[in-house]
Amino acid sequence: MCGIIGIYGNPEAATLVYLGLYAQQHRGQEGAGIVSYDGEQVHRHMGQGLVADVYSDPGTLQALPGSLAIGHTRYSTTGGLDAKNIGPLLFNVEETPVSVAHNGNLVNLGAMRRQLQKEGAIFQTTTDTEIIVHLMARASGERMADRLSAALEQVEGAFSLLVLTHEGIIAARDPYGWRPFVLGRLGDTWVAASETCALDLIGAKELRDVEPGEVLLINDDGLQTVHRLPEQRPKHCIFEYIYFSRPDSRIYGANVDKLRRKLGKTLAEEAPTPTADIVISVPDSSNTATVGYASRSGIKHEIGLIRNHYVGRSFIRPEQELRDLTVKLKFNTVKGVLAGREVVIIDDSIVRGTTMRNLVRLLREAGPKKVHVRISSSPIRHHCQFGLDFPTEEELIANQRTKDQIEAYLGVDSLMYLSLEGMLTSMDQPPDHFCTACFSGEYPITLNEVGRKDAFEPSKPEFDDH
Ligand code: 5GP
Ligand code: MG
Repeated sequence: MCGIIGIYGNPEAATLVYLGLYAQQHRGQEGAGIVSYDGEQVHRHMGQGLVADVYSDPGTLQALPGSLAIGHTRYSTTGGLDAKNIGPLLFNVEETPVSVAHNGNLVNLGAMRRQLQKEGAIFQTTTDTEIIVHLMARASGERMADRLSAALEQVEGAFSLLVLTHEGIIAARDPYGWRPFVLGRLGDTWVAASETCALDLIGAKELRDVEPGEVLLINDDGLQTVHRLPEQRPKHCIFEYIYFSRPDSRIYGANVDKLRRKLGKTLAEEAPTPTADIVISVPDSSNTATVGYASRSGIKHEIGLIRNHYVGRSFIRPEQELRDLTVKLKFNTVKGVLAGREVVIIDDSIVRGTTMRNLVRLLREAGPKKVHVRISSSPIRHHCQFGLDFPTEEELIANQRTKDQIEAYLGVDSLMYLSLEGMLTSMDQPPDHFCTACFSGEYPITLNEVGRKDAFEPSKPEFDDH
């Protein structure tokens, strides 16, 4: 997953992009970057870590002049954490600078990368995104937008893409619309972003989505659809509604808050807890589903866990006795709320099971009568190839253990998940408009290879050129 934003036609383009990245920090915390164009030169500033840290020196934004800019917050799915992989990537295609910000993950890349390398391509990064630039370099077409369209015809997988060139900004989305992508307007300025929360922050109005399969050029003439990739067939990532997007955003044309509440309501119907005294959330990601669960079940909603928002990347090594500290750093219990009560705790998902296991231990210390866990999505049993960084299937607890075994592992009085059907009926689009591969194992496209994050890391140590 990643967050992207592009601004066309504003003298403060880089600052607006910076704000848009700030709003989309939740989509990627590994690194951030902005590329701007002032009509003559392209400028870039990027770095590892959070947006606020990468741009902590006010001079960095001033050094990004121009009326068009794109930006990226990184959450890696292909390619290591090193600085070279932080977006937006920047290359010259012949004499023309081309910069790319990508949310999503391309698939079936191994053969293509090997072929390009055989033909003499020298890759500068280990990302999936770079393939697109190599294909653009080889494509013909008068405009960069045409070259990009030709390149995108040859790749498979998930992409919401912003490409900055001297011709303008190109926004492109894969034919399945896997990842969210929205267009907005702020006065005369055009905006394209992953989520509407980025538009809200800068005061832009939502216009419409970049459509699945659309390649759209944004320049002084406005918006122009230059190409449509074949076989548009919506397969929106349902996990965006479950966990990833912010509840104050609209994605795929619907409010995340509304659908997330609906997930909670459906969960209350499917997995009731009639004897429970209170229901609590795991802040912040399950707050909205918990509101839905409480309203449908009539069980009192309490704040039983408090989250510390200032916890950065954990500096604690995962030695066993310290592992509990990681969850304690992030959460504390409100003893008076929990003691002596029969508690339902809602979370949006269980991936490895570590968060919930540690949380349950923490809750038990507060002396609840019983602890029931309810999850507002189905068991995650399969890998994602389309932009979520789920661990291997061996690490997914629901792939390895039955529900009873997970219950025992978590140490809870009961555990229930929302069914796949319940997830889909909570949506406001037909079930076949969603990708549910991580739950169902049904991949919308044939995968010839299972991508690994380190697929393109060099086998020999790289240069140490610091
Ligand atoms: P677990 O500890 O089971 O591996 O992870 C489950 C927790 O991580 C849940 O509280 C959920 O909100 C959160 N979560 C789910 N998906 C993701 C993800 O893709 N990235 C991160 N950082 N957290 C996730
Ligand atoms: Mg969570």
